[in-house]
Amino acid sequence: MQNTEKDIVRAGEILCGGGLVAIPTETVYGLAANALDGSAVAKIFAAKGRPQDNPLIVHISELSQWKELVREIPPMAMALAQAYWPGPLTIILPKSGIIPDEVSAGLETVAVRFPSMRTTRRIIDAAGVPLAAPSANLSGSPSPTCARHTMEDMRGRIDAVLDGGECNFGVESTVVTLATEIPRLLRPGAVTPEELREVLGEIEIDDAVMGRLREGVKAASPGMKYKHYSPKAEITIVRGTLEEFIRYVSRAGESSQTFALCFDGEESEIPLECVTYGRSDDSLTQSHRLFTALRELDEKGAKKVYARCPSTEGVGMAVYNRLLRAAGFSVIDAKTIRIS
Ligand code: AMP
Ligand code: MG
Repeated sequence: MQNTEKDIVRAGEILCGGGLVAIPTETVYGLAANALDGSAVAKIFAAKGRPQDNPLIVHISELSQWKELVREIPPMAMALAQAYWPGPLTIILPKSGIIPDEVSAGLETVAVRFPSMRTTRRIIDAAGVPLAAPSANLSGSPSPTCARHTMEDMRGRIDAVLDGGECNFGVESTVVTLATEIPRLLRPGAVTPEELREVLGEIEIDDAVMGRLREGVKAASPGMKYKHYSPKAEITIVRGTLEEFIRYVSRAGESSQTFALCFDGEESEIPLECVTYGRSDDSLTQSHRLFTALRELDEKGAKKVYARCPSTEGVGMAVYNRLLRAAGFSVIDAKTIRIS
């Protein structure tokens, strides 16, 4: 389907009738179902192969829809919404009684987002209900940022895909919980920690954001504990300058199936086949490109990939968080590694 009025109305009918439609948003494509219908939501988990204990984000198209989904909206939550909604920010609060257990995966809280993409909001309006929507990929693979990638993963598993073009940000929303004493960042996204601090003052950054969750520690955000965003190739992030990267891969690069995941314009200097993921000095271009680049590596048959390390400032934290998971936490420092 395209994003014509007729297709949007049709998507709304399918959703309202308990079906599944993959929809564009400004972050990534989402796999949507009526958030208030537990059996519709259960189909999302089946289509994605998503673990049952990983809760979903509920999408609304007007601020006024938020209050029936949560127990109450504290002033701090409203201030945050006023600053960054509509936009790529998900806010977690204690849930109200109308949220089915399938959405919250048994937790007492619910994650809500008010997307900024007009097509997304028109689809929610057409459905006439809030939509539960995780990323529209098969569980574990990179999130889809265009209709073609969505179709590759979801063909035959869902009722329709609505093509709204390429996603603007390309990584999933920032997730912050206000259900803890001190607000806590659970997943970095295009709304940065600095921007959250401007409204909330102090925030904590969950341990799972920049590293691997330790064995035995309960995940505040269940999604963070799963292997994620991973292409078939084995990725290693190489910290260091471009020169250090080149020196390292010149010695380590073995076969024709070894690739570099690098920044725009670096291809001619790197002695490997390259896939690029944005400008070295621009985290937003990196977030826009990253998941597409990971899928391109698979399409080209890459087995081993050395990735240039992004900056972790601002939106860079989200880029690094996704790349780190795609690499299964494999990071080396080109400065300290000696190859004889
Ligand atoms: P996705 O929609 O695929 O981007 O996944 C949603 C993310 O939000 C996952 O990492 C979930 O674990 C997280 N999430 C959703 N609801 C909650 C919640 N109530 N508490 C903590 N994390 C949540
Ligand atoms: Mg996801």
